Amino acid sequence: MTAPKKLYVKTYGCQMNVYDSERMAEALGEQGYEPTNTLDDADMILLNTCHIREKAAEKVYSELGRFKGLKAAKPDLKLGVAGCVAQAEGAEIMRRQPLVDLVVGPQSYHRLPEMETKTRQGEKALDTDFPEEDKFEHLKSRPKARRAPAAFLTVQEGCDKFCAFCVVPYTRGAEVSRPVDRILTEARDLVERGVREITLLGQNVNAYHGMGEGGSWSLAKLIWALNDIDGLERIRFTTSHPNDMGDDLIEAHGTCEKLMPYLHLPVQSGSDHILKRMNRKHTAESYLRLIERIRAARPDILLSGDFIVGFPEESDADFEATMALVEEVEYGYAYSFKYSKRPGTPAAERPQVDPDVADERLQRLQALITRQQRKIQDEMVGRTVKVLFEKPGKYEGQMVGKSDYLHAVHVADAQVSVGDIAPVRIISSGSNSLAGELI
Ligand code: SF4
Repeated sequence: MTAPKKLYVKTYGCQMNVYDSERMAEALGEQGYEPTNTLDDADMILLNTCHIREKAAEKVYSELGRFKGLKAAKPDLKLGVAGCVAQAEGAEIMRRQPLVDLVVGPQSYHRLPEMETKTRQGEKALDTDFPEEDKFEHLKSRPKARRAPAAFLTVQEGCDKFCAFCVVPYTRGAEVSRPVDRILTEARDLVERGVREITLLGQNVNAYHGMGEGGSWSLAKLIWALNDIDGLERIRFTTSHPNDMGDDLIEAHGTCEKLMPYLHLPVQSGSDHILKRMNRKHTAESYLRLIERIRAARPDILLSGDFIVGFPEESDADFEATMALVEEVEYGYAYSFKYSKRPGTPAAERPQVDPDVADERLQRLQALITRQQRKIQDEMVGRTVKVLFEKPGKYEGQMVGKSDYLHAVHVADAQVSVGDIAPVRIISSGSNSLAGELI
């Protein structure tokens, strides 16, 4: 009986990479790999990379260089690169870093078992295809082990929007929606294994249009079908584009009990000029009208957004328009970044904003966002929320979980277990979490 091989996976970037890392580990499980968190124990190291920031590829090359000693000490150790940098760089990775045995793109990781076999025969394995076949059809059903109570589930991949700053359409390809029955099967399987909350993932998840009974289903229709699964208590989805927020999805936020009152709806800028140059295909006004309609459907919904400052040609007036939009919406969370040039994207060729100016703008925006986040957290004090408990806290008897608004909540002396959902009265608000007591 051969000893199980050890797999060390390092995941960068988005929730979809987290989901993909899980599926890749499961696929390699068929080759006798067990996960390890100890680099020195690894028989294979897999970097699941993200291409969203400048110099992303350079960071991967320097990380790979650090494994030189490990490989020298353990010649059978296999080194693999997956994810969006693998897709973008492909064979270049092996040319620049001969230590690498395997490069696999996000659409072809269902072929990892045979690729791993190739590397064990001393060959290099490279696959950055956008294959005809649906990788999910070829991934074996998931192992039956108990799971953490909150899970991700990819329902859509790729994007057809081609925002001028984004690499996703090039690294993840065109929009593909998984068939409804496959998603429902995977969801039921997750619930059987202890999952109470599922976050539906897609680079442009609200453009979901998977085939199901009677034809193409919208994301809202899929959510209503998930709503019928006993044992599944909470549904979330991310990441959405304003132009794909259908009436039925807005309506579901008002009427679907298991759909949580949290919506991540990136806008990136508050300036119509910059939105046009970003190719976002909507205006600040239409975004604000959309927010009004969503709040009319679910007045207590917590909104989060994404913002880029220092996008090419962004003037002081453009930036002030972003600040004004943030002021008007009031976000519970918002992620903000300085524009970062991405090779191969249209905006990368344009004259860049002075980095010091972009820095100063980012600080102002983040200060505003932090004020809003604190204000909304403080307004939770005295209210009762439902918390899904996910793990023990750092103190004896403390339990930690997430509220329906996705706030982190910790409760001392909590007579609850992982996976329980319980009403909690919020007693205080901290910088990034809330303290509560069980009702
Ligand atoms: S919608 Fe999102 S994923 Fe698609 S191109 Fe734009 S930023 Fe990228």
